[in-house]
Amino acid sequence: MSDHRPKHECGVFAVYGHPNAAVLTYYGLFALQHRGQESAGIVTASGPNTPFAMHKEMGLVSQVFSPDNLERLKGNRAIGHVRYSTTGSSNIKNAQPLVVDCGRGQLAIGHNGNLINAALLRDELEHKGSIFQTTVDSEIILHLLAQPNGTSGVLAALRKVQGAFSLVIMSEREIIGVRDPFGFRPLALGKLDGAYILSSETCAFDLIHAEFVREIEPGEVVIIDEKGIRSEFPFDTEKQAFCMFEYVYFARPDSIISNINVSRVRTAMGRELARLHPVEADMVVPVPDSGNYAALGFAEELGIPYEHAFVRNHYIGRTFLQPTQLIRDFNVRVKLNLIKEAVAGKRVVVVDDSIVRGTTARARVVNMREAGAKEVHMRISCPPHRFACHYGIDFPDPKNLLANQCTMEQIREYLGADSIGYLDTEGMVRATGLPRESFCLACFTGDYPIPFDPQLDKFIMERRQNRANLLAEEDEHPELFDLV
Ligand code: AMP
Repeated sequence: MSDHRPKHECGVFAVYGHPNAAVLTYYGLFALQHRGQESAGIVTASGPNTPFAMHKEMGLVSQVFSPDNLERLKGNRAIGHVRYSTTGSSNIKNAQPLVVDCGRGQLAIGHNGNLINAALLRDELEHKGSIFQTTVDSEIILHLLAQPNGTSGVLAALRKVQGAFSLVIMSEREIIGVRDPFGFRPLALGKLDGAYILSSETCAFDLIHAEFVREIEPGEVVIIDEKGIRSEFPFDTEKQAFCMFEYVYFARPDSIISNINVSRVRTAMGRELARLHPVEADMVVPVPDSGNYAALGFAEELGIPYEHAFVRNHYIGRTFLQPTQLIRDFNVRVKLNLIKEAVAGKRVVVVDDSIVRGTTARARVVNMREAGAKEVHMRISCPPHRFACHYGIDFPDPKNLLANQCTMEQIREYLGADSIGYLDTEGMVRATGLPRESFCLACFTGDYPIPFDPQLDKFIMERRQNRANLLAEEDEHPELFDLV
């Protein structure tokens, strides 16, 4: 995917039927903060014909909400959203949930995922006169939902979208949870004091003492209203394609996905990695926090001591200064410092979950060398990232993926490591205990569950841009467009 398009690494949360819906959502979003740090928002509903209340802003959950604005979010239903920070789309207009007031009443939506046919659908809708307020895919779903045909209209609208979508939708009477037929992104159902809860990840249930009931199935639409909860399966059956990178990196280690705790999978990946690329060493050091569990598995498997030699600064947020050479160096060091005494003179294995551009891994090897480590062996608990993700994980353009550009020996050389070892696809899948067919492995294999035509996408984006330019010109020089 080209870089000018917004991306959606996000977390969604919803509550139906609790007097403290906004507060529960607020805490739910805290637990999902790792899925998105750019903006946060909550929309609440008190009942039919009462305006939805909304608060959303750029920033972390702790910065966006105050006791005052939570107090104003009245109602026993709520949906919430956290959005990931990416360049080019840092804009309050794109913050979610999105709300419209349309023929079928008020609707609010929170979306995690990425639509494949977004450009095409948007083009069609604009052609029919829809006016878009944002550049996010999710607004397309909102426009489709706004067609006034009751629940069957919702299901018909959902059938038109293709790609990755775990959604929470709030209408004047319902909360609706949707997981696309491939099940790319997670979505789980919980219960608390008779209220229903939906959350991207189960770790949010733990925080609010909700009971984890089950995961929403791929292709399932759950509709919760005053009559209770029911499910529809409006989509054609597809091959399941849960995003493996949720297990590798993105999901929180305390969440449960497909009945397996994520930290357990990461530890098992570390064990698999140790069996595939064993090394004689004095200690195994994780890159915190992403490499913690894989490093533990690696160390246990080979019987090598596990040591937390990197110390993480938890309070940095984003570094914002322009990257001069001096500051680039500070930026790399601000997050982690090394306990030099622990590694000096030692043969060290550094374990991280993944290498994207290679900046992090390279910096960690430099740290180790500066501290006087005798040998530095880099181990990565997933296969090399060589391909783009079209379904909602924010990777750079493939030409900026280190493993897309370099051979294994070139990677080792670039990192400055004594050796490099990645887990292979088979070991990674084995670590989950699930069949390979249940996963999307596209960023590793290039095998995309839903075909994506970048040429068509580009063509439509350009056509839309031309139309937007024409409209802007018309605004500036209406006389040129006066046909009478
Ligand atoms: P890089 O420095 O570009 O190689 O990034 C690799 C580091 O970023 C690893 O430590 C990963 O844990 C982390 N990472 C991998 N993928 C992502 C992503 N999509 N968004 C944010 N961080 C990521």
